[in-house]
Amino acid sequence: MPNSLDLNQLAADIKVWGRELGFQQVGITDIDLGDAEIRLKEWLAKGYNGTMEWMAAHDNKRSRPADLVPGTVRVISVRMDYLPGDTQQIKILKDPTKAYISRYTLGRDYHKLIRKRLSVLAKQIDDALPADYPKQHEWLNRAFVDSAPVMERPLAEKAGLGWSGKHTLIINSNAGSWFFLGEILTFLPLPVDQSEQPNQCGACSACLKVCPTDAFPQPYELDARRCISYLTIENKGTIPLEFREPIGNRIFGCDDCQAICPWNKYAQFTGETDFLPRHGLADSDLVTLFNWSEAEYLKNTEGSAIRRIGYEGWLRNIAIGLGNAPSDATIIAALNAKRPTVSALVQEHIDWALGQQAKPNYRRKRKIQNTSRAIQS
Ligand code: SF4
Ligand code: SF4
Repeated sequence: MPNSLDLNQLAADIKVWGRELGFQQVGITDIDLGDAEIRLKEWLAKGYNGTMEWMAAHDNKRSRPADLVPGTVRVISVRMDYLPGDTQQIKILKDPTKAYISRYTLGRDYHKLIRKRLSVLAKQIDDALPADYPKQHEWLNRAFVDSAPVMERPLAEKAGLGWSGKHTLIINSNAGSWFFLGEILTFLPLPVDQSEQPNQCGACSACLKVCPTDAFPQPYELDARRCISYLTIENKGTIPLEFREPIGNRIFGCDDCQAICPWNKYAQFTGETDFLPRHGLADSDLVTLFNWSEAEYLKNTEGSAIRRIGYEGWLRNIAIGLGNAPSDATIIAALNAKRPTVSALVQEHIDWALGQQAKPNYRRKRKIQNTSRAIQS
């Protein structure tokens, strides 16, 4: 190795550059994910991944970064806050006429922004290498964000970004859990961070209790098939009847297990304008969104992760929300007007919603979760 490369100094520089690029924290870890690999295999064996076959499709590449990108010896893990200010989260969740959309996706799709920033960071690292540094690989440093083949949470935990909470997300004792993760896989033998945060969940089990669909078989284990994020985003087919009332007005994802977590009183609002709500998505009526034409849906979700579910998934999810809203002539008219124009899948969910609307309000037990306090700044 050339004498002119000071890896300690480079690691310190990477952290400064990362902060300058808008990441709130940068950590460096080795690539030993042996424990996580065992847990992943047990989890997959239970079928908890549902139809997310990509989670099992990469052999050991997910838990062995050097199998994914040969030559990798370290992972640089970063986090970026995304909570876009006070979005009246609890108020929206408790108003059955409103549409609740997971707070990470109210603005532009985060993948592009974070991948771009990580690519800049990777280039800065490349540029810092001496001219005689051996570059035996066609790649130098590779950036990933929320990518199928990378186990980003165990890597973030090892890199000191936080601990894995009972809800399976990473919590930081100074910043809560409302942040995105990203990684750079590198061949540079940088010094690793030794500051893993101890697990501070203690006796708390608020996230396990608040889950509307009982998606946690036990602490630290999620049955994705029962999670509203999976049901409304990853699942492309029918939403099973048992989950329709508990879904309430959550039309894209769910944040309840994060919203209830006491550590999120330390969460900071994002400074990224790209993550700010667009097209009134933080506070829209269900009927208004349901009445969007496909052209309006495509226009208003341009550049947003909401595009992932397509117009059919959008209508399917909102139909459930409308079925859970108080009986109302406007809602019934909107459901009936849309029905002839949509697929059999959406029609079936509309029929369910109309059946719900026909019931007296007192008979419909909407399982609104009493997420007890507003998110604090
Ligand atoms: S996101 Fe919602 S449905 Fe999924 S585990 Fe958390 S509380 Fe349960
Ligand atoms: S709600 Fe409690 S148990 Fe759940 S992740 Fe937060 S601190 Fe841990």
